[in-house]
Amino acid sequence: MKAIVYEHHGGPEVLEFKDVSDPSPREGQVLVDVEAAGVNYRDVYEREGRSYAVEPPAVIGVEGAGTVADSGERVAWIGAQGSYAERVAAPRDRLVPVPDGVSVEVAAAALLQGMTAHFLASDSYPIEDGDWVLVHAAAGGVGLLLTQIAKLRGGQVIATTSNEEKAALAREAGADEVIGYEGFAERAKEIAGGEGVAAVYDGVGKTTFLDGFKALRPVGRMILYGSASGQPDPLDPTILASGGSLYVQRPTLMTYTRTPELLRERAEALFDLIAEGKLRVRIGARYPLAEARQAHEDLEARKTTGKLLLIP
Ligand code: NDP
Repeated sequence: MKAIVYEHHGGPEVLEFKDVSDPSPREGQVLVDVEAAGVNYRDVYEREGRSYAVEPPAVIGVEGAGTVADSGERVAWIGAQGSYAERVAAPRDRLVPVPDGVSVEVAAAALLQGMTAHFLASDSYPIEDGDWVLVHAAAGGVGLLLTQIAKLRGGQVIATTSNEEKAALAREAGADEVIGYEGFAERAKEIAGGEGVAAVYDGVGKTTFLDGFKALRPVGRMILYGSASGQPDPLDPTILASGGSLYVQRPTLMTYTRTPELLRERAEALFDLIAEGKLRVRIGARYPLAEARQAHEDLEARKTTGKLLLIP
């Protein structure tokens, strides 16, 4: 079969489109035909060797949707290493059924980033009616979904984006105010009026994290859920005191889906929102599997919006 392999860690150029042997499912795994593989920022970290201890040579990627080879059942998954491929051996307990009313492609586009947006808005900081929150990179994969879910919960969203096209998408997703990154914390505090925002959702990291504390209201929550711009500098805990008894969380989707039950519950809640037409999933671009390298280049160059899919 065809797959995207890296033989050592590095830039997008290490991604090679190759013939490899079909995966053989081990105990607890099933063979799945991939219809669409999801591109996630974590794949960049995996490729670079920044996190996720995968030893090359390896087939990259962990998310997708397709059909179980034996039964034809429509499924989507997270946590199946080797998903940038025509077939993957997926752990049975990381598969979720794709309900009627959700296409396989939308399931691939929504599952990882959508469940992330869902736990961020409902668990990391449970947004309440009228709360102001700040969502960084709001036109990105997680960002567009998080903005919509925050609005569904009655929140008011201040979004950051890097250009006008992305700002328009954030507004379409429901953002009340869209601002640039320059001086974002002061601007957000002003917009929220009074004390500041209840929560900052930060998947950007290095260039935004420490400034973000200045936007928080007393007892506000800084949710650092990713580091697209690099790992932030270490946090001096006295900032939490001087900012007004603040909280900080560094959550992972793994924690919130650590059992098959938690995974299914979260996926069902997400797919319900999509099937009911309450949550729109933007597929920003589809690339043939062979062009995975281009997809990574575009993602890292901040040229993309919404979800990127690879089509085998
Ligand atoms: P995105 O589609 O959001 O792409 C990243 C976006 O970040 C860019 O489009 C860009 O938007 C913004 N950005 C700001 N600075 C930079 C920079 N220096 N380099 C690159 N991008 C930058 O990606 P995802 O939706 O896949 O992921 C978003 C974040 O969420 C990532 O940090 C990812 O690791 C994290 N994540 C965490 C999870 C968890 O379990 N904790 C699960 C899923 C995702 P703009 O141009 O508008 O600034």
